[in-house]
Amino acid sequence: MATIKVSPRRLRERMEQLGTIGRDPAGGLTRLPFAPAHVQAVQRSAQMMREAGLDAGVDEFGNLIGQRSGRREAALLAGSHLDTVPQGGIFDGALGVVAAIECAQTLREANRPLQHGLAVMAFADEEGHAFGAGTLSSRALVGEIGRSRLAQLRDETGRSVDDYLRARTHGLPPAKVPAQVGAYVELHIEQGPVLERMGRVVAAVESITGILRTPVVIEGRASHAGTTPMPGRADALVGAAELVLAVRELALAERDRAVGTIGRAHVLPGATNVIPGRVELTVELRSPDAQVLETLRDAVEERSREIADRHHLTVRLGAWDLSPPVPLDPRMRDAVVRAIERCGHPPLTLPSWAGHDAGVMSRYVPAGMIFVVSTGGLSHSPDERTPWEAVETGAQVLLETLLFLDDAPDMSRRLPLAYAAG
Ligand SMILES: [Zn+2]
Repeated sequence: MATIKVSPRRLRERMEQLGTIGRDPAGGLTRLPFAPAHVQAVQRSAQMMREAGLDAGVDEFGNLIGQRSGRREAALLAGSHLDTVPQGGIFDGALGVVAAIECAQTLREANRPLQHGLAVMAFADEEGHAFGAGTLSSRALVGEIGRSRLAQLRDETGRSVDDYLRARTHGLPPAKVPAQVGAYVELHIEQGPVLERMGRVVAAVESITGILRTPVVIEGRASHAGTTPMPGRADALVGAAELVLAVRELALAERDRAVGTIGRAHVLPGATNVIPGRVELTVELRSPDAQVLETLRDAVEERSREIADRHHLTVRLGAWDLSPPVPLDPRMRDAVVRAIERCGHPPLTLPSWAGHDAGVMSRYVPAGMIFVVSTGGLSHSPDERTPWEAVETGAQVLLETLLFLDDAPDMSRRLPLAYAAG
């Protein structure tokens, strides 16, 4: 049988179209979940889904789903997310959605129906920037983030996830993810330098890093920057600076098994001539190893206490939000590797240092991921790039993976969907 080929032209056009939605005057794309640009991207993607012969709708967690039924009860799920970080790039997330739509459309045009149903997923909030919880939408879908938490999580405007979900501004029909799932596959850019350094284009993902995040509030005493002598000051920003260095040192000590970042800090009152009385920041720790994460968490807590004592501060760590490390299903890894070989590329598997919806899904159903090269290893940046040939390769590998899974022995599982009854 002749190989069915995705359309590189259509892939590029659609990626570029989506890449115009949410243009930030400061550079790159800013498509925060549920904000107008995100809603517009959902609507545009829904239109692409309809062009691919899929029924498009939005579920009660704001996820866009484009589906088509098959002879088998179980559905194959493929997709990614449509939100971005502030001033992000056009490939992170959108690539997996557009490529999955392309696979659906290619199969339809080739008159090659799958035995399984097919559902293209476009998760609403993966980045976790707006509400402080990564992979929020997929975790909400499977009930890991309950209703009460969705009502509590608020963005900078003070609106909760729940408020946004109630508003349902996208004008699309309601939809639900199929409960019986054969597999979930996600194509994503690597977001790191490994593939490029190896001179490779595509890899199967073997595991997804665990992530621990906590908000931290450091309180000291705000006072006059001129009349307050240096000894005896309680400068919250000095404590924060020490914590930044401590997190770096602790992560470095784990060699290449962990990374740690303080990527956000808010200094109050934030005046040139006032000693900072309060700093609010976030600590983020990552490792593919659960034990390493635990050790790091304890060490950060310990160092926070030391810093508080030394600088006459109070350092309060909030509840740690844990996204545990996940090995991906070896059967899925093998399916992707096989698809990579079918596309004429050498087999390769890599861990993922970024969290992904596939990591959440893999706790319930067989899940796999395909990585394509990121130019310069850059992501979460306006300079995020992936060569168009690599985009085509990734989409073709996704298509081959779906075709392989469609014929593979049944490994379907029931996804514990958290939809309201009825
Ligand atoms: Zn992503």
